[in-house]
Amino acid sequence: AARLCSGAGGEAEAADGDGAMLRHLARKLRASGPVTVAEYMREALTNPGQGYYTRRGGVGESGDFITSPEISQVFGELIGIWYISEWMAMGKPNTFQLVELGPGRGTLTDDILRVFNQLASVLSKCDVSVHLVEVSPKLSEIQAAMLTGGKVQPNPEDKSAYMKGVSKTGIPIFWYRDIQDVPPGYSFYLAHEFFDALPIHKFQRTEKGWREVLVDIDPEVPDQLRFVLSPSRTPATQNFIQPEETRDHVEVCPEAGVIVQRLASRIEKDGGAALVADYGHDGTKTDTFRGFRNHKLHDVLSAPGTADLTADVDFSYLRKMAQGRTATLGPIKQREFLKNMGIDLRLQVLLQNSGDTATHEQLLHSYDMLMNPEKMGDCFNFFALLPHHRLVHPDKKDKPESKSPLPPVAGFSELLLK
Ligand code: SAH
Repeated sequence: AARLCSGAGGEAEAADGDGAMLRHLARKLRASGPVTVAEYMREALTNPGQGYYTRRGGVGESGDFITSPEISQVFGELIGIWYISEWMAMGKPNTFQLVELGPGRGTLTDDILRVFNQLASVLSKCDVSVHLVEVSPKLSEIQAAMLTGGKVQPNPEDKSAYMKGVSKTGIPIFWYRDIQDVPPGYSFYLAHEFFDALPIHKFQRTEKGWREVLVDIDPEVPDQLRFVLSPSRTPATQNFIQPEETRDHVEVCPEAGVIVQRLASRIEKDGGAALVADYGHDGTKTDTFRGFRNHKLHDVLSAPGTADLTADVDFSYLRKMAQGRTATLGPIKQREFLKNMGIDLRLQVLLQNSGDTATHEQLLHSYDMLMNPEKMGDCFNFFALLPHHRLVHPDKKDKPESKSPLPPVAGFSELLLK
């Protein structure tokens, strides 16, 4: 199942290779001492040569973890409807960019683009383009195959993108390594299981005050890693722990904060919205750092580069990092969001349209995976950034009676498509 609710196994063998990442880290630790968990996570996941995402990719049934878009097409379809509903609520601007952060195998974008194509008459006068932010060359290849049939142009001269192509439905698609390279403009952003892959710092309350958790080499066992506490305060302890903090162990993901600040500034300036979906909490959980390999929990310090490393997203931190530049909605549980988006009706239509029992069973099974509170229904959350004027009329105070009410934001309340 998902990373949080580890379940049915894939058969793929981890490409342990020659333990090159462990040797590289051990050399580094011996030479210059312990590193922060964030530095360890960044190396293990996105090191350009040996990183987990760079080399292995991980997503999908044959990988290390499975995600909602890989479980059911309905998931991406409902998200596609969310963007159309927001586009309509915002007055149908004549152009928008769909920007996805960490698109995995490209399945989610593919499902969204199918909805855009089915609703082409609604979107007819709108100029849509797709912008994918992906660091992994391996995954960008898989995305290109899925979305364009593999017909792509590397290093296009006219753009800051590293690759471009055209979707099966004729929509231009561009790839970037960083959100900052994506051109400005009215944009709908999407981050599904992206923020949980970004590096976290970990802090422990001790009798002497807050200390940062670091990764070091174990002097007793060759090439084995272990956690240690920093002997004194680190710059991160000073910057990231709030004086009013009541927990004894805290995880902070500054990179997620920086990205949310960027999204919020872009939405404030150019318009649009961002939808973030991930497992996480609202500033209450403590130790959530985990590893996954072959759909099973994996020791985070063993065989780095061969397993996915992840930590729950702290939505309270993301909300704070929006710094009032945009309004925020959520987090709301996945099962509530999908219910509000009409998943039950969509399931009924698909069941009616298919005659065979195997498809029926598959549809019901994937519905259960997405919605069951014991599976992905409760642990995954949806969170949105929206311009303030989307939720409150700017001059409401002056002339409340002259304005028609703003349409509710789908997913966070029931979908009303007019
Ligand atoms: N959204 C997909 C995949 C989730 S896995 C799904 O739900 O199926 C995380 C994705 O983020 C992968 O595509 C990974 O390569 C990408 N990624 C991880 N760290 C990144 C970073 N720092 N910048 C851009 N992409 C990153």
